[in-house]
Amino acid sequence: MGEQHLETACIRGLHKEQLTGSVNVPIYLSSTYHQESFDDFGPFDYSRSGNPTRAALEKKAAELEGGTHAFAFSSGMAAISSAFMLLSAGDHVVVTEDVYGGTYRFVTEILPKFQISHSFVDLTDLDAVEAAIQPNTKFIYLESPSNPCLRVTDIRAIVRIAKQNDCLTFLDNTFLTPLYQQPLALGVDVVIHSATKFLSGHSDIIAGLLITKDRSLGERFAFIQNTFGAILGAQDSYLLLQGIKTLGTRLRQSTETAQRIASFLLEHPLVENVFYPGLSTHDGHEIHTGQASGNGAVLSFVLPSKEHARVFVEQLRIPIFAVSLGAVESILSYPAAMSHAAMPEAERKKRGITDGLLRLSVGLEHTEDLIGDLLQALKAAERLTETVKN
Ligand SMILES: *Cc1c(COP(=O)(O)O)cnc(C)c1O
Repeated sequence: MGEQHLETACIRGLHKEQLTGSVNVPIYLSSTYHQESFDDFGPFDYSRSGNPTRAALEKKAAELEGGTHAFAFSSGMAAISSAFMLLSAGDHVVVTEDVYGGTYRFVTEILPKFQISHSFVDLTDLDAVEAAIQPNTKFIYLESPSNPCLRVTDIRAIVRIAKQNDCLTFLDNTFLTPLYQQPLALGVDVVIHSATKFLSGHSDIIAGLLITKDRSLGERFAFIQNTFGAILGAQDSYLLLQGIKTLGTRLRQSTETAQRIASFLLEHPLVENVFYPGLSTHDGHEIHTGQASGNGAVLSFVLPSKEHARVFVEQLRIPIFAVSLGAVESILSYPAAMSHAAMPEAERKKRGITDGLLRLSVGLEHTEDLIGDLLQALKAAERLTETVKN
């Protein structure tokens, strides 16, 4: 048999439970494990250190990202904070300017307490990246495409700069998943996921992952995970494994619809801008196409004002209005007051998170129903403009 496609790998080889032949990995609800003898301990001893259901998930996550070591955490933020625990007092990190709001909060509010400094840099500006690196810079933290303006970073170029300067690279791959982007193959050292999003896909759990193919990093993360203890429970590990099985079909369908919605919005007179890496008008389109095999199901767009955004949101029937993304249901959010509320207004504006910006995570509803719904809500928002003109 030739090399398997990722869609197949999402499903195959998970388990054949030895006792019963169960096709699903059992949920091992056990905190502790009998040790066979006084001298020989088995593979599991205590579920913070390792649990068979979580281990099956971690093995699958490593396989999908082309890694050798994977670790499942109780949230994306737990995975991210644990990754930052590689650092020591006196270290410095370079972080992408349009980083996820929770990561921004961690970097600005928690790291300084441990004398770890940071620089936020526009990673699309390679000169600025080189200039930001200091003798004590330990890693560069990337997201591509980023949240919420879908900016694309040249991953290979950043990896090259990092290696020249003895830095590691960490990449939050939540938006594309291993199905569309394989950061380890591009030279990135550590891949991070909020598995709350596309990987689980059903808005039912909060989970995070760290994946690497570097043995020494793997061992350090195993130590950090066991010591810090923010592990994913067995039941959520099971749900995440179930979600991953349908990732291929879900993501492809949602991406196809997202591409059509992005083109539709681009043509609409009320919409001032659309951010989606699948549009040839997108700044990072070419770089994106050179490093990812799909465009993903998240896009954002700009309406003329906060009032337009309000009317639009109030008129919309199908997408739920909420934070989060990557689910079977389409999710519309208002970044200025939701995901990026933790960011000071000036910082938000600098990153393009304006008062008319809306982010849409496209789900699995029928494409035509979604476009019809968007169209009628845009019509309602257009009436606002007409009223003002009159
Ligand atoms: C949601 C999200 C996170 C945080 O993950 P949680 O599971 O909510 O802790 C980190 N990065 C990105 C890109 C996200 O969308």
